[in-house]
Amino acid sequence: MTTPILAFILLLFAFIFFFQSNRQRKSAGLPGGRVVYTDTHGWGKVEKPLFYAALDLTGKPDYLIEKNGQLIPVEVKSGRAPEAPYDSHIFQLASYCLLVEKTYAKRPPYGIIHYENRDFAIDYTQELETALIELLADMKEDDLKREVPRSHEQVARCKRCGYRDVCDQSLA
Ligand code: SF4
Repeated sequence: MTTPILAFILLLFAFIFFFQSNRQRKSAGLPGGRVVYTDTHGWGKVEKPLFYAALDLTGKPDYLIEKNGQLIPVEVKSGRAPEAPYDSHIFQLASYCLLVEKTYAKRPPYGIIHYENRDFAIDYTQELETALIELLADMKEDDLKREVPRSHEQVARCKRCGYRDVCDQSLA
């Protein structure tokens, strides 16, 4: 994997982490997710990352489920489920839906976020796809800037952040 692509993946997850507020979910029209029961039987592990050159986007869902001729990406998260999936998790799953569609020429109707105690189905709507593409464009733009201001006032978030030691805006 080339360094720019790797850097872009790291940036993707760093930046989507900034988008965890409900406020943004509402303004972007993101689906909140519905609780579903899933049988882990038949989940196929994804071995290789998927890549979509037009958006310079790569990623690997944890599993793909084949159901009624459709492919459903699954993202597994450690820990118990929040009340509703975080926006960062929704965007990550949406990027997998997009990658699955571009790779297999089949648009997933939804994807699944699997937490320890609960699963959420997230509809892969046109609105969600548009919000994802806008987010990716914003990230690319920010990538060219020397400085990108912190987008939150949450000490707890900085405490958990892997960039804390090198970030000059850390609150922790
Ligand atoms: S340390 Fe805080 S401000 Fe810096 S990147 Fe991490 S979350 Fe953002």
